[in-house]
Amino acid sequence: MTHTVEELRSAFDAGITKPLAWRLAQLRALRRMLTERSAEFEDALLADLGKNPTESQIAELGFVVGEIDHALKHLRRWLRPKRVSVPGALLPARASTLLEPVGVVLVIAPWNYPVQLLLAPLVGALGAGNAVVLKPSELAPATSAAMGRLIPQYLDRRAVAVVEGGVEETTDLLAQRFDHIFYTGNGRVGRIVAAAAVEHLTPVTLELGGKSPVYVDGTVDIAAAARRIAWGKFMNAGQTCVAPDYVLADRAVVPRLTDALRDAVRELYGDDPAQSPDYGRIVDDRQFSRLTGMLDSGTTAIGGDHDAATRYLAPTVLVDVPGDAPAMAQEIFGPILPILPVDGLDDAIRFIRAGDKPLALYVFTSSATVRRRILTETSSGAVGFGIPAAHLAVAGLPFGGVGESGAGAYHGERSVRTFSHEKAVLSKPLAPDTMQLVYPPYTEGKDRFARGLLRKLG
Ligand code: NAD
Repeated sequence: MTHTVEELRSAFDAGITKPLAWRLAQLRALRRMLTERSAEFEDALLADLGKNPTESQIAELGFVVGEIDHALKHLRRWLRPKRVSVPGALLPARASTLLEPVGVVLVIAPWNYPVQLLLAPLVGALGAGNAVVLKPSELAPATSAAMGRLIPQYLDRRAVAVVEGGVEETTDLLAQRFDHIFYTGNGRVGRIVAAAAVEHLTPVTLELGGKSPVYVDGTVDIAAAARRIAWGKFMNAGQTCVAPDYVLADRAVVPRLTDALRDAVRELYGDDPAQSPDYGRIVDDRQFSRLTGMLDSGTTAIGGDHDAATRYLAPTVLVDVPGDAPAMAQEIFGPILPILPVDGLDDAIRFIRAGDKPLALYVFTSSATVRRRILTETSSGAVGFGIPAAHLAVAGLPFGGVGESGAGAYHGERSVRTFSHEKAVLSKPLAPDTMQLVYPPYTEGKDRFARGLLRKLG
């Protein structure tokens, strides 16, 4: 492992990753891998998560191709030095900022979107001109193996390495010095990663999870809202970091919303979701028993049936869920959706603010006042009005959490900036020497100048 990181560091130090042409070539090669070998990735995702190939195209392979295309189109412009203005007292001078690659970066990915969450950060890391170690999740073993096999066939092996493995391998990696660590996963391991990074003063991006709430008031088309909520929740069998975790609905809306969710689940997955080729499976036995242990958190309004042998857990909606039920005490991260009644917006805001800052917050309302109050009175990584999860497909929006849901962000230009150091550059001619006024010895005139200057700079 030490060996790998050292080799990548020598490649970085030799400058092979810095030319724009190299970066663009790597991005094109990554794109080629995703298109030429898409069947292998689709098979792996089907084996790991029962993911339907169309969903794999939308949320995994196609997503990364979209990020690559966006980067290929704009990278040259993103990397251009940016001029900034210089205060009058320092003129003549020119100031600018310049993005420089940080060096060797480590990307640690989870199992739930094992292609997207490993490769979307890679797009930014390569675009920024870094060498990269990729650590796929051992809990999506078929996808991890595909990465280990295919990435070295397409990308420059001197600068990109895949290290497969679990806790032991990741612990070894974390003992090395990296120049940036990009971690996606749960907050417990996020703390381990951050603590390891401190040893080398390595900056970290933490893409974590948590409970992303939905608020539905009585002013919207409930059937349409239910379809959106059901899609966002039950995609990938609920194993999505930005999936709606639970719903807060105005009390009078709860029965209608429950009925509409029942219709929406039937529309999306048919009468028996176990037979639907579009509905995924729970990743492993540990997650399966954690999830089934939450099923008695309330009254089952929809679904609830499950089968340990196939790790099938039906799209499930629970009502009458007390605030301290197991399903409300942790991130659900599976196809169980509790609906909790609230008495209006104040009550909903109070509930949301009592919890950790969520990764995303979704609101279904037609009221401009409700929207404004949500934006100003709550804090979350993102807000989606009328749609869950889709904000991550907007390349111009930074994707990341706040507080317990993470630190830092990526996607589009933000990814390149995440893996870059923004270097400040000031350039001032030696003549005329306008600095005379600040050199000692200090005189009364200089003192007057300094006080005026302070006012100007302030
Ligand atoms: P996971 O178990 O696959 O772990 C993530 C990574 O951490 C893996 O590569 C794993 O090998 C490594 N790891 C595990 N234990 C470790 C240890 N002790 N030391 C060092 N490394 C270790 O995935 P997970 O954490 O179960 O993922 C689910 C969580 O991730 C959920 O909380 C979800 O909300 C969050 N998530 C966040 C995002 C986001 O973009 N913000 C995306 C997906 C998932």
